[in-house]
Amino acid sequence: MNYNKKSIEDIEVAGKRVLCRCDFNVPTKEGKITSDKRIVAALPTIEYLIAHKAKVILCSHMGKPKGEWKPELSLKIVAQRLSQLLGQEVIMASDVAGEDAKAKAAALEEGQVMLLENTRYIKGETKNDPELSKALADLADIFVNDAFGTAHRAHSSTAGVADYLPAVSGYLVQKEVSIMGKALANPERPFVAILGGAKVSDKLNVINNLLEKVDTLIIGGGMAYTFLAAQGYSVGKSLVDNEKLDYCKEMMAKAQAKGVNLLLPVDTAIAASFPSPIDAEIPVDYVDCTAIPVDQMGLDIGPKAAEAFAAAAKTAKTVVWNGPMGVFENPTLAKGTIAVAQALADSDATTIVGGGDSAAACEQLGFADRITHISTGGGASLEFLEGLELPGIACLQDK
Ligand code: AMP
Repeated sequence: MNYNKKSIEDIEVAGKRVLCRCDFNVPTKEGKITSDKRIVAALPTIEYLIAHKAKVILCSHMGKPKGEWKPELSLKIVAQRLSQLLGQEVIMASDVAGEDAKAKAAALEEGQVMLLENTRYIKGETKNDPELSKALADLADIFVNDAFGTAHRAHSSTAGVADYLPAVSGYLVQKEVSIMGKALANPERPFVAILGGAKVSDKLNVINNLLEKVDTLIIGGGMAYTFLAAQGYSVGKSLVDNEKLDYCKEMMAKAQAKGVNLLLPVDTAIAASFPSPIDAEIPVDYVDCTAIPVDQMGLDIGPKAAEAFAAAAKTAKTVVWNGPMGVFENPTLAKGTIAVAQALADSDATTIVGGGDSAAACEQLGFADRITHISTGGGASLEFLEGLELPGIACLQDK
């Protein structure tokens, strides 16, 4: 896939109606926004469009209304917050690409901003229905995609609309694509990838693709025990995916054939059972991974593994991290994940953290501003690492 995509700076927007797909899928509680982070993240693109005299038509989905007009998933609250942040009115359409949206889009003046209703109020959205894509395109002259979190979805408002309009990236998508694209296509070496999380099966293709690209692949978290079991170690009651033992063997052979340094944890935190509730205080021991007792389970990497992983991250020039090293929701079992986050924060390398748990860990620990890039898309960043073509990016014009 070509990552060299045009951005809003590569197209004349003055006087044009610009349809900009944002990720305004904000968390809410009792009708109030609990975090406006995603709205704030969209401001640079929106402010650029306003400053360059575009007529700005924003759209997004929120939640999963599945084609039903659920009032609790209306984007009205986003329009209100956005209006406060921009210090100007945000005109709210009462439909997605219907009569009200058409009339309001047609009446927009340069520098004005409007927001369409939740795109998933229309069934055709998630089916990438050409009728909806065309109706959205008819509102505007240019399409800007600034929603990386949905870039792995081929929906009408994320990709389909680009069949009918010149399409470019906004600043958020541009940043994701340029940093992650460069890391995968042309990384500064050594290139180290750190994978964690619960299951091997969730990351089969990621492991396979990364082995083509990295110098060192580090595997921690619940995934590691299936690899250890595949090496013939007894891992007690640890999470093991018996159906993936052969796959793990194959990947270890591939790593060897490609000269990739595959690092697995040498020691582990063990306990008699999974903590319940997940943050309950539990007694934990540390043992080498060659000596996990039959009645114990591995729930975090141990201190020796944390040190080895951190050392590899510190000497790297590019580090990609996705997935926690243990049951990080539990303070006693979060140490491995914290050690990796700390190592990335301390590293001079280009550090890229995939969305989801590892991104949350960096943010909670206050390391976010010491990481080069924290991806805004969990699923999208994983598909990126898998080497898949993301429809919301593939549809943009090449430079
Ligand atoms: P994922 O959704 O695949 O990124 O996995 C994240 C989840 O993996 C977190 O909720 C962790 O608690 C869990 N996890 C990490 N390490 C382990 C482990 N050793 N055993 C069981 N679950 C784990």
